[in-house]
Amino acid sequence: MAYQALYRKFRPQTFEDVKGQDHIVTTLKNQLKNDRIGHAYLFTGTRGTGKTTVAKILARAVNCRHPMDGSPCGKCNICRAISAGNSMNVIEIDAASNNGVNNIREIIEEVAYPPTEGRYKVYIIDEVHMLSPGAYNALLKTLEEPPEYVIFILATTEVNKIPITILSRCQRYDFHRISVVTIADRLRQLMEEEGVEVEDRAVDYIARAADGSMRDALSLMDQCIAFYLGQKLTYDDILKVLGAVDTKVFSRLLRAILGGEIAEAIRVIGEIITEGREPVQFVNDFTWYLRNLLLLKSGDHMEDVLDMSSDNLALLREEAQMVEDEILMRYIRILSDLSSQIRYASQKRVLIEIATIKLCKPQMETSYDSLIDRLVTLEEKVEEGIPVQMSAGEIPGSGGQMTGQAQGMPVRSGKKELPAAVPEEVRQLAGSWKKLVAALEDRMLASMLNKALVSVSEEGELLLVYDVEAPDQNLARKKMMQAQTMAELQNILAESTGKEVRVKVIGNEDRRPKEQMYTDAIDYFARTAGVELVEEDF
Ligand SMILES: [Zn+2]
Repeated sequence: MAYQALYRKFRPQTFEDVKGQDHIVTTLKNQLKNDRIGHAYLFTGTRGTGKTTVAKILARAVNCRHPMDGSPCGKCNICRAISAGNSMNVIEIDAASNNGVNNIREIIEEVAYPPTEGRYKVYIIDEVHMLSPGAYNALLKTLEEPPEYVIFILATTEVNKIPITILSRCQRYDFHRISVVTIADRLRQLMEEEGVEVEDRAVDYIARAADGSMRDALSLMDQCIAFYLGQKLTYDDILKVLGAVDTKVFSRLLRAILGGEIAEAIRVIGEIITEGREPVQFVNDFTWYLRNLLLLKSGDHMEDVLDMSSDNLALLREEAQMVEDEILMRYIRILSDLSSQIRYASQKRVLIEIATIKLCKPQMETSYDSLIDRLVTLEEKVEEGIPVQMSAGEIPGSGGQMTGQAQGMPVRSGKKELPAAVPEEVRQLAGSWKKLVAALEDRMLASMLNKALVSVSEEGELLLVYDVEAPDQNLARKKMMQAQTMAELQNILAESTGKEVRVKVIGNEDRRPKEQMYTDAIDYFARTAGVELVEEDF
């Protein structure tokens, strides 16, 4: 049976078929209907959100002989020529491979000649941020005075790398990550057209895994269909193909860990591994699961951020009630370390099991995190009226001091000439970061800080890591980098610690496909923590 990839087969041919970018489609259609077409467009957004698809529809729409409601008819000779890639009017350039001055010069020389057929010559430059400075200059000259019959459509995943001189000459359109619901609806529609039977839960899982990219969703679906060609696709099939673990398993594992049931936790891990799941992915997914719990606890409107089904959300909410922020943060930190250790290790399973025992038994560690964890457990027992036996040896550095710190940072009124905080103090600060941020009067600052992942560099700098690809985080990052905001934060830190804390704001600019912000940050943490990744033969 011949199988054509969904992504190619169902590439939208009209504006109506473009999903999840209504704000862009409406504006473009209005421009087309009123004949107010611009000469330079900049399409930005993460991969797979429809930038080049919309560019191609626009290229046909401006040239179509019989446009319908702003969309190309798809039937006239011009539409057909463009779709088949035979038109001289549409010139596509991949700047990733043609980024030199000469490549751009060649193109620009052609700009001088009007189209032989149709109204517009359309230049689509993909990954435009890859152009060299010389190429930008060459492009800029044409953008400054484009001929009437020329349209430039520049597409990029990294708008922050585009020079302002180019930006200022373009109409900018931001393509959003596509919501899970929109992706799932589209998948269901296509599966019906294809006559492929698939469980709803399976569709939902793929929609979630695609992380806002319709292209990723279709290619994941392709993998699954190819694997079970001609059969009904179930949720379990899809988990197997994608090497993923059911959320319910995470829930079971977390409950075992919270209950300190090492045997049960190890059993769950054994099941996951014997089923052939990829251990590194499992650790990353479990970390992601805990991250979602933490998000759900930290704000009122996190449901929108989490973008998941109401069933999963209900389960997650129940779990969120069971566990303290500080404990979650400790878990996430242990798993972050684990994630960087096992990538190149041969004994992946052993490392996962050791980490799990660590999670179950905070008393195995003497770090600040685990102390907090134990204090929370003790406090709960006291609240519940369970008598607590506590020997001095059990908690290193025990006594009033630790309890005081767990309840709130000591405030000192040091003015100038504060001693610099040592790395251990900064780590403590990072450990109680959420409490500190929650207590801030400046809610604007708190909101910007809440968007960051917090870590500590080897030199003892407090690191605030933002994902530059997420617009809200990138905005927060820029604001945090302003001198005034930074001064405000440093004053607050000085007041609460009595020390001078060095703060560094970092954008995570790594563009590895399919990876999410958190796994990038994990790598970053591993590097800054000085964890050596040893390559072993296996
Ligand atoms: Zn047409």
